[in-house]
Amino acid sequence: MENDMIIVFFGELSTKGKNIMDFIRLLGKNIRSTLKDFPLLSYEVKKDHIYILLNGTPYEDVKKKLVKVPGLLSFSLAKEVPNDIEAIKEEALALYRKSQAKTFKANARRVDKNFPMHSDEINRAIGGRILSTCPESRVDVHDPELMIHVMVRKEGTYVYGIKEKGLGGYPLGIAGKGLMLISGGIDSPVAAFLMMKRGVKLEMIHFAAPPYTSERVIDKIHDLLHVLNDYQEDIKLYVVPFTDLEKKIYELAGPSYCVTIMRRMMMRIASILARKHNDLVLSSGESIGQVASQTLYSIKVIEEACSLPMMRPLCTYDKNEIIDIAKKIGTYDISIRPYEDCCTIFAIKDPVTHPNMEKVLEIEQSFDYMTMVHDCVDNVKVEHVCRNQEEEL
Ligand code: ATP
Ligand code: MG
Repeated sequence: MENDMIIVFFGELSTKGKNIMDFIRLLGKNIRSTLKDFPLLSYEVKKDHIYILLNGTPYEDVKKKLVKVPGLLSFSLAKEVPNDIEAIKEEALALYRKSQAKTFKANARRVDKNFPMHSDEINRAIGGRILSTCPESRVDVHDPELMIHVMVRKEGTYVYGIKEKGLGGYPLGIAGKGLMLISGGIDSPVAAFLMMKRGVKLEMIHFAAPPYTSERVIDKIHDLLHVLNDYQEDIKLYVVPFTDLEKKIYELAGPSYCVTIMRRMMMRIASILARKHNDLVLSSGESIGQVASQTLYSIKVIEEACSLPMMRPLCTYDKNEIIDIAKKIGTYDISIRPYEDCCTIFAIKDPVTHPNMEKVLEIEQSFDYMTMVHDCVDNVKVEHVCRNQEEEL
């Protein structure tokens, strides 16, 4: 019918006490922005649900976008019928038949108190119609396979059952803004996705070392960010010219301490940029023990160069768990394209797994690294990667 609608459920948001309306308003805004290519849709943002009136827009097209909105627990397509018990019973029966469930329970809510039947009477009328028509059907009030919801409003009655699973988490932006270190590998885009899902709006920082790393790494990062645009429509990317600092580190630190010092410099640059742009935290795709720089011993020494908290959403994930998510969100095939990484070009052998802080400080004190760090910050290139913006970057 013309006025079918989608009812959106919030999930964890309902635990948010008096902030709930801020959460719901932001979720409503994010949903509208995600669905802005569907001009016929109209919205009602209420404190228990958000209603999206389809006004003739195909449900399946809207559904594909809604499943990617952070903060949305689930949603249902509701069919509108007139405020007439015969029409309600017919729609409930159709829903039951389509669901292939055996057991059901009717759950009516009478928002319009002028409707002549009470909720219980509506439930009994629906139950009677289904039981008398479908011999295999049974009512189960405790654990039904299908819950048939009926909402009687002044404007019409809405009947819905099956709930589509949403992404969960919190509305993007509710948690504040963070700066994500993105490398072009498998892990960091997955970590970014998990942060966004948790409501953190992200800016991205990439350390580029041309000519040792090719321009294709940047292309790859643009492609990865385009995938992440499904969750955040506008992503700011800082590209840091890291070549000179990296060469200097390799020269002074040698192969075993090169990665430790390089990562400490990344932390310093990222912290300065994050503070400058009001990012509350840093984030990375690190996972405990994955490589030498991600042992707890390394993490401690590296993190001491950060001046903001570092979030590592993947710290407890196994690589295959990370790959599963990468495949699900569509970043995996991009991430595995071959490219040279800052570490591979200098053929670093035997990086230290238990770095010694005194040794680290000794190496760092042997050059004026802060001038080089500030040079990197001053020469950073800023880009925006946006939804619907094709490959013109
Ligand atoms: P990824 O972890 O993204 O798969 P990787 O495993 O090659 O790439 P590591 O060397 O394990 O990267 O680095 C750990 C984390 O450090 C990355 O997840 C990313 O957050 C950050 N990082 C590494 N290299 C860079 C870089 N060149 N620019 C920005 N961040 C980087
Ligand atoms: Mg990694």
